[in-house]
Amino acid sequence: MNMPIQPARQTTVIKTAEIDAMATTLFRPMGADGVYARTADYELVIEKLSALISSYRDAEAEILRFPPVMSRFQLEKSGYLKSFPNLLGCVCALHGSESEINQAVGRHDAGGDWTTSLSPADLVLSPAACYPVYPIAAARGVVPAEGYVFDIAADVFRHEPSREIDRFQSFRMREYVCIGAAQHVSDFRARWMDRAQEIASNLALPFTLETASDPFFGRMGQMKAVAQLQAALKFELLIPVRSHEKQTACMSFNYHKEHFGTVWDMKLQSGEPAHSGCVAFGMDRLAVAMFAIHGLDMTKWPAGVRKTLSLS
Ligand code: AMP
Ligand code: ZN
Repeated sequence: MNMPIQPARQTTVIKTAEIDAMATTLFRPMGADGVYARTADYELVIEKLSALISSYRDAEAEILRFPPVMSRFQLEKSGYLKSFPNLLGCVCALHGSESEINQAVGRHDAGGDWTTSLSPADLVLSPAACYPVYPIAAARGVVPAEGYVFDIAADVFRHEPSREIDRFQSFRMREYVCIGAAQHVSDFRARWMDRAQEIASNLALPFTLETASDPFFGRMGQMKAVAQLQAALKFELLIPVRSHEKQTACMSFNYHKEHFGTVWDMKLQSGEPAHSGCVAFGMDRLAVAMFAIHGLDMTKWPAGVRKTLSLS
């Protein structure tokens, strides 16, 4: 059941035509839905939001920045195919001999299909920033008593083409990840749910914080979603970007229990598998939300918001 923690302010009137016009101002088309070139103003807001989120970072956090691809083996082992196979993008390449590769290119030159010669590489496009961090932590051995906190970011891909301005296929995800004992992780998540609300308030963004479920694939997935909701394993901070009825998840707060601890044989000093949780900031959704709520002209944003972002 969803639990509204703070009611969204109903003062913002969202006009669909204006939202559509926003895309023309903020982005340049790249020939695919949900994949855009970003303009200078938009990137400035991304930079300022990133700096704001960094200013809330725990002192002990270890900073890692990931490339947009990760090991296919690691993602398979994490169980991603059981939950979201429909969203995954896999890197493919022409692996054959010189003559086989030339044949594929020749088919294209003749107006045919070169892609039938592709085969999967050892890489996938990362569908979330945090997957690569668990094997890195696990390789260090027993998790120290104080646990780990990581500050991570990556360009991620999800195969969900859409013309809606708040749904990208390629987007920036920033995360703080906590690994340790159950209580440690649940304290971390609670702390970040408070901080996230403070961030949204300082940005004058109307929001609600609700329990949520992931878009698990298929009929079995619906059962996973219900279980996730019932156990309150996921919360989302929602902002009325396109509509008040269907608000946009701009941050998420996830508790994985011992899932990654078990997958990567990552143990606490007690010998029990480590727990983990993450808070994820959808940087592109947050930037779009800022323009949707405060307007396209940043010079006209409320003085307090400009100050929070060090825009003036
Ligand atoms: P999730 O792992 O689904 O909780 O995603 C983490 C965050 O990424 C969400 O809270 C959103 O802000 C953002 N996000 C998820 N899917 C998309 C998308 N298709 N386009 C843009 N941002 C997204
Ligand atoms: Zn995560």
